[in-house]
Amino acid sequence: MNIILLGPPGAGKGTQAKKLEDKYGLKQLSTGDMLRAEIAAGTDLGVQAKQIIDRGDLVSDDIIIGMISSRTEQDDCQNGVIFDGFPRTVAQAEALENMLSDKGQRIDAVIELKVDEEALVGRLENRIAEMKAAGQEVRSDDNAETLRHRLATFREQTAPIIPFFADKDMLRTVDGMQAIDAVEAAIDAVIDEAKTAS
Ligand code: AMP
Repeated sequence: MNIILLGPPGAGKGTQAKKLEDKYGLKQLSTGDMLRAEIAAGTDLGVQAKQIIDRGDLVSDDIIIGMISSRTEQDDCQNGVIFDGFPRTVAQAEALENMLSDKGQRIDAVIELKVDEEALVGRLENRIAEMKAAGQEVRSDDNAETLRHRLATFREQTAPIIPFFADKDMLRTVDGMQAIDAVEAAIDAVIDEAKTAS
């Protein structure tokens, strides 16, 4: 089973993806985490990506598609994947569909976490305060100014994948402003529906 979690930065995709990993034996693939690992390892890709990420822009489709394509070949992805932060453009969405269909697989559910953008800035400020209090390192793109740019990037480049999947009747929308447990229950219901359909 392959699931896409879709939503603007700070919508709670990562939190929910972790829960799904444990429950359904799927592998969470976060392209943001993969890029941050490249930065931490000091690779050429990491050096290139850091500037783009810190601005709140998108890394090129070619790089992202290549990264996902080789990662999904690995053993831990064979039960299925929760895509978190990918696809972020229509070109990435089309590439993913082709990649999966080559393997005789498909996207089973696209789950949009719908959130109020203004509330996201407040959520981010809380997250930063919590991380600092816990002595954790705060992401270099986690600040109010970059978040606003990341939100604009989402609206301009990522939001078009919502009608792309809706037109194929693959999109299911969950109210991401609810409490974490309620969001989780709503996602479970979508996955149950997708399982029954498959
Ligand atoms: P995230 O952790 O998903 O919020 O991603 C952090 C940053 O990594 C984004 O703001 C982008 O600069 C970059 N990034 C992550 N995933 C993608 C993707 N699928 N396509 C392009 N850029 C991405």
